[in-house]
Amino acid sequence: MALNADVLRAYVGYLRDLGVHDLYRRGDPQAGPVEFAEESVAPQTSLPQTSQPQAVAAAQPVAVVERVVEQVSAMSMPIQPLPTPGFLEAPVGRLVSFNDLAPLPAAPVPVEQRAAALRAIQEEIGDCTRCPLAYLGRRSIVFADGDPGARLMFVGEGPGADEDASGIPFVGKAGQLLNNMIQAMGLQREAVYIANIVKCRPPQNRVPEPLEANTCDPFLLRQIDIVQPQVIVALGATAATYLLGVKQSLTSLRGRWHSCRGAKLAVTYHPAFLLRDPRQKGEAWKDLQMVMAELGLQAPARKPAQ
Ligand code: SF4
Repeated sequence: MALNADVLRAYVGYLRDLGVHDLYRRGDPQAGPVEFAEESVAPQTSLPQTSQPQAVAAAQPVAVVERVVEQVSAMSMPIQPLPTPGFLEAPVGRLVSFNDLAPLPAAPVPVEQRAAALRAIQEEIGDCTRCPLAYLGRRSIVFADGDPGARLMFVGEGPGADEDASGIPFVGKAGQLLNNMIQAMGLQREAVYIANIVKCRPPQNRVPEPLEANTCDPFLLRQIDIVQPQVIVALGATAATYLLGVKQSLTSLRGRWHSCRGAKLAVTYHPAFLLRDPRQKGEAWKDLQMVMAELGLQAPARKPAQ
């Protein structure tokens, strides 16, 4: 992880919200807190000659930041109340598939109750500060978009700038491409359900940290359990990694079915990647055709050339 002053502030703010104020006094209870000047976060090239832990910490701010992150990672996540009975606390430092994160629901939520059930999760999320992304410049918590009774669900990585501004997932250029992909499958965007692994925008659109994804995942899991789609499409490696609990190349995960919360799950390229490398659109179309066959969808007839 790139450690800089903004990330450090986010983690420290996050810890303060948890009531942790003594991170810098470990090993020397008498010492005062270390002051972090922004410019002091640059890596040190030589070690100071001192045996005082606090002095070492002050002279090696990057090491201290790493210790802060380690201590954050070692803590259980403050998701209260636990999302469902029997739900595991968000795992830290290990990948757990959505299938293993919580028992499957005993019974499906009736279609007419799904919108209200999803609204209840959104209310529970509230002005969420459960992970450091709350402190890294997010403007909106991007919950989801689409039909609570959808048979098809798309899961991406996290909101970008356009999504952060609008509060709706996949509305920028990548969102336009996703809309085109959905239409090519013979559907309208309103007929599917769209969400992300994290609901707050990571700065500079970086990949969410495991701590962030693991903290936010229980909400997505509950959304999946309420919508109960027949098919989930994981858009890109980050979505596939957290939904399936495996870290493998996208190539090795594509072209076959996986399982997630009772749904069949297919993996394909993220639309943002397809914008960068349009040559892979044909491969993505193969993945979507596999999904279409499963759902009995047919591509709309092409308009005859004029
Ligand atoms: S990413 Fe999820 S867990 Fe983190 S602050 Fe946003 S809503 Fe909360």
